[in-house]
Amino acid sequence: MRVLFVSSEAYPLAKTGGLADVSGSLPAALASFGLDVRLLIPAYPMALDRLANPHSVADLGEDVRVGPMRLIGGRMPDSGVPVWLLDCPHLFRRAGRLYTDENGRDWPDNARRFAVFNHVAMRLARGLRGIAWRPDVVHANDWHAGLTPALLKTLPANDRPASLFTIHNIAFQGLFPPGVFPELGLAPAAFSPGGVEYYNQVSFLKAGIRYADEVTTVSPTYAREIASSELGFGLQGVLSERLEHLSGILNGVDYGTWDPAHDHHLPCRYDVGNLANKGECKRRIREEFGLDPDPEVPLIAFISRLTGQKMADVVLEALPWLDRQKAQLAVVGQGEPDIERAFREAGAGRNGRVAVHVGYDEPVAHRVLAGADMLLAPARFEPCGLTQMYALRYGTVPLVRATGGLSDTVVDVGARNIRRDIATGYRFRDATLAAMTGCIARALEGFRQPALWRHIQRAGMKQDFGWPQSAARYLAICDRLLGAASGVSRLRASAVRGDDYVGEPLAQQEGE
Ligand code: ADP
Repeated sequence: MRVLFVSSEAYPLAKTGGLADVSGSLPAALASFGLDVRLLIPAYPMALDRLANPHSVADLGEDVRVGPMRLIGGRMPDSGVPVWLLDCPHLFRRAGRLYTDENGRDWPDNARRFAVFNHVAMRLARGLRGIAWRPDVVHANDWHAGLTPALLKTLPANDRPASLFTIHNIAFQGLFPPGVFPELGLAPAAFSPGGVEYYNQVSFLKAGIRYADEVTTVSPTYAREIASSELGFGLQGVLSERLEHLSGILNGVDYGTWDPAHDHHLPCRYDVGNLANKGECKRRIREEFGLDPDPEVPLIAFISRLTGQKMADVVLEALPWLDRQKAQLAVVGQGEPDIERAFREAGAGRNGRVAVHVGYDEPVAHRVLAGADMLLAPARFEPCGLTQMYALRYGTVPLVRATGGLSDTVVDVGARNIRRDIATGYRFRDATLAAMTGCIARALEGFRQPALWRHIQRAGMKQDFGWPQSAARYLAICDRLLGAASGVSRLRASAVRGDDYVGEPLAQQEGE
């Protein structure tokens, strides 16, 4: 089975968030099942720098508006998965961030940048001269790749690959003024409520949802939430019309990168059988961050985009309360400028108790995660969330709001769950200051009971959220798509480890 994986970012080539982690590891997990998976991402400067074995594979011609384009072939540095970078210097070789300039302002030509990207995905799907490879399935991800399923639908039905569209975060919809529509290469009728129009704007995300053969999102709870509540950010109606083709598959963790037993970013390593070195990681990160050394005081980590989604504003509000607790806080994040500034100021006034590292720094995130006792992961909504799953493996007890994937991955420390040995963290329900501080207070109480705490840590460290289970669910969907398209199951039964891995359509989940 040949799969073209289309994503705007893939770790380690380019990353702004969890989408990159998934795009970096899911293709490799699918390849390990024997699938022929290839990745398409834009040739951002850092992606060009990091690609292994880069070489020019196809000249895509020149466009008056965007200049010359070509495909650069290569491999992912770690997994070796084949990659194509769409090299269009005018659109993608820029200083600044992937979607914004240095000051966080959206690039004014984002619609054009990603329309071009989707057209190249479609050309690859149709078969490009010089490339003897056509996909059976195109797996498009998030709004940046949302036009691809719509463009594929313009091809003859008997000569197009099946399409799968994954929503990683429905809050980011790729909304643009109607003036961009003529550039998209879709039939005029597509600019309608049944197509890509969203309140007289063009929505790339809606295009993916409406036109893909199957739609997935990144956790079962989030699939229910976006189709049935305000968490659909206005697209709940569109999704509810596609329930038969919508399912939630939890993201997997790349334990090659996120495991304290092998993590080369840590000063020393540890595992579930020996947690002594975690104490040393704590001592070292406190030193690095200028926090007071008292080993009895728990260290709480907040490693997150500093945005409203992550309740970073509420974490700020909680600082005066936290001042009165026996606890320290280490913040690693970047995001909304006002929130960044407020955290910097808050940290400066709390020497030794609160440390703030504003910026995006992968090694620091690893070290803080390992050194902390708890990870605070609140969210107004959370499609899947990866840091809480990483925290579990690092013996860093997660404190989460029960929403989306956080609900699917953390089991609360209640008496029954402790008895059943399944409690892995602390949960709170409402997105309020009181609920969050109440949850932290419960966790601080738990920390004062070393036997209980070790128990929770160990239960968490034994969890397995690795890719094989999740990738098998994607594989089952691809198989279903090809079965439907061709009447022939191309999947070897041995590749899927039992029916229980098959992503259930949302309609069935709702009946639970
Ligand atoms: P989201 O994709 O919504 O930002 P996730 O929890 O799914 O949230 O993924 C966040 C990823 O980004 C994790 O790998 C996390 O460790 C990492 N991360 C977030 N902020 C930072 C930061 N400032 N520095 C380094 N890594 C960060």
